[in-house]
Amino acid sequence: DPRIAKIAKAIRVIPDFPKPGILFQDITTLLLDTKAFRDTIDLFVERYRGKDITVVAGIEARGFIFGPPIALAIGAKFVPMRKPKKLPGEVISEEYSLEYGTDKIEMHVGAVEAGERALVIDDLIATGGTLCAAIRLLERVGVDVVECACVIELHGLKGRERLGDKPLFVLVNAA
Ligand code: IMP
Repeated sequence: DPRIAKIAKAIRVIPDFPKPGILFQDITTLLLDTKAFRDTIDLFVERYRGKDITVVAGIEARGFIFGPPIALAIGAKFVPMRKPKKLPGEVISEEYSLEYGTDKIEMHVGAVEAGERALVIDDLIATGGTLCAAIRLLERVGVDVVECACVIELHGLKGRERLGDKPLFVLVNAA
């Protein structure tokens, strides 16, 4: 698809952020390019329209940028998966491991019902730990996670392997 190359070009890469040695994929420049941003949303909408997805679950923070326009276009609800202690209501949470220590994501109780069909969305998959935690959280309450989608997949970190047989759709591959 000729749109992909332009999306890839609109993503800025910043060395040594947030720490020395890390090449940060910055999607804020993609948001400045109105054509590339629209194409990004359109590519996801073209893939998920008509698939009976009832919920788009977006991971904080950049899943909150791409998720809602996709949810509106396919007629699904949007559910935020947030960092700990951000959601005001009763939550269920799922822990996952980081390079050093652990982190958690949380979702409001009652946001989804058993039997719903979900798409999980984030800007980027690296090790896959975050997406795996989101999948576990949704599956614990009986939701069928149909697929995960990211704008960028970082190669060499085996995120896709960590997802096992859960389908992952990405637009851009990065080293
Ligand atoms: P994972 O859990 O190792 O797959 O890391 C993915 C999470 O870290 C996502 O929520 C991303 O937003 C974030 N992340 C990791 N590296 C980058 C990056 O280079 N750019 C933007 N987000 C990143």
